[in-house]
Amino acid sequence: MTNYTAAIELLSAGELIGLPTETVYGLAADATNADAVAKIFALKNRPQFNPLIAHVSSMDMASAQAEFSGKAQQLAEAFWPGPFTMVLPKSASNTICDLARAGLDTQALRFPAHPVAQEVIAAFGKPIAAPSANISGHVSPTSAQHVKDEFGANLSLVLDGGNARIGLESTVVAVLSDEVTLLRPGSISKDDVEAVVGKIGSSLHDDNAPKSPGMLSRHYSPKARLRLNVTSPEADEAYVGFGPVTAKTTLSLSETGDLTEAASNLYAMIRKLDHSYDAIAIAPIPEDGIGAAINDRLRRAAL
Ligand code: AMP
Ligand code: MG
Repeated sequence: MTNYTAAIELLSAGELIGLPTETVYGLAADATNADAVAKIFALKNRPQFNPLIAHVSSMDMASAQAEFSGKAQQLAEAFWPGPFTMVLPKSASNTICDLARAGLDTQALRFPAHPVAQEVIAAFGKPIAAPSANISGHVSPTSAQHVKDEFGANLSLVLDGGNARIGLESTVVAVLSDEVTLLRPGSISKDDVEAVVGKIGSSLHDDNAPKSPGMLSRHYSPKARLRLNVTSPEADEAYVGFGPVTAKTTLSLSETGDLTEAASNLYAMIRKLDHSYDAIAIAPIPEDGIGAAINDRLRRAAL
């Protein structure tokens, strides 16, 4: 069973732990402790200009840290707990360290749905900063074993919450002056958000005007070369299909063509193939629903 006592002791001592969430596994630290947060940046080799998401376990914990406009409240009611992050104006009572925000006056918050994440944050009683538990730029981890493979002895505790149900990072929206902007697609789609608050804008990886520094350029990348939208793989390429397995297929993201299943398999399959191939080719993935988020990650992984 899960070792919450050890987890809370480590977090209280300003140490890092591996934490399961429904999106991907996080590298977790006390978000209010700048020394602890600095260890996240160091271990991930993450540039300090790329702010972290703080994770909460209640609406009360969230509203102490940021200003919720009417639209932010509606979105929280619709999508929390869940794979949904809001970038909001930080509140006067905010206790999260500046380093976690990369010095910005906005605060990214998520209330995850995973029971282990919720229990740890609630028991700790403070927001937890938790970017994906991988070296910056690499493929995100969707199992406890992936996190151990990534950090080995440098991380003393990884809580095992099973395979991540969703397998792709959260949807990120900014809700500033009641204007909603999509910063990163995820399993909650732009249409899902618009069904709650009406038309929203998007600002996806604009390298010239980064609203969200972490959305820049190459990310989520395996060591192998990655080719997208491939229907005829080369002889030396592993071929990741979508739909029924054919003679060409090395692994299929979903034999039934289910995009949700494909999202949850994506990172684990890429990791697995990365061990034994120098080149990976991926079949075309439809853009509908979570497909947009899968294609977003693949485009940046292939840069
Ligand atoms: P990850 O790196 O997967 O933890 O994702 C966090 C994402 O949220 C990155 O793209 C960050 O740049 C973004 N983010 C976090 N805080 C903010 C903020 N205050 N303003 C804009 N984007 C943010
Ligand atoms: Mg990440």
